[in-house]
Amino acid sequence: MVVRNLERLEHLQEAAKRVGIQVIIRKTGRQRNGMWWARFVLRPIGDKYRLIRRRKVWAVCLHGHTEFMRVLFQLSPNAVIKSCMATVTKDNLDSHFWILRYKNVGSILMPDYYGFCCNC
Ligand SMILES: [Zn+2]
Repeated sequence: MVVRNLERLEHLQEAAKRVGIQVIIRKTGRQRNGMWWARFVLRPIGDKYRLIRRRKVWAVCLHGHTEFMRVLFQLSPNAVIKSCMATVTKDNLDSHFWILRYKNVGSILMPDYYGFCCNC
């Protein structure tokens, strides 16, 4: 995922800490307007917000991602997060949550819906 218009880089760590997951920052930079951008991934700590697709996966589920983004938008309201699934701002976070719940992350023969691949 890539986030743009971040006021402070520490907001990523702070949001992950409040939600109870970890953020691994791959690359960062400064934008022309003085804001930060960062490429990062979210990883679960223990079983909280862990994605399960017939076995445990080292990935964060939709609820964890949504919670992380909600906290991040409280800290940095102008941030824009772009992932392979959606481009999320503070205004469309909830609508993306409802849409992505039924996104198929399995196969055609064995569908897995993104919003239901966890114990949340
Ligand atoms: Zn979940």
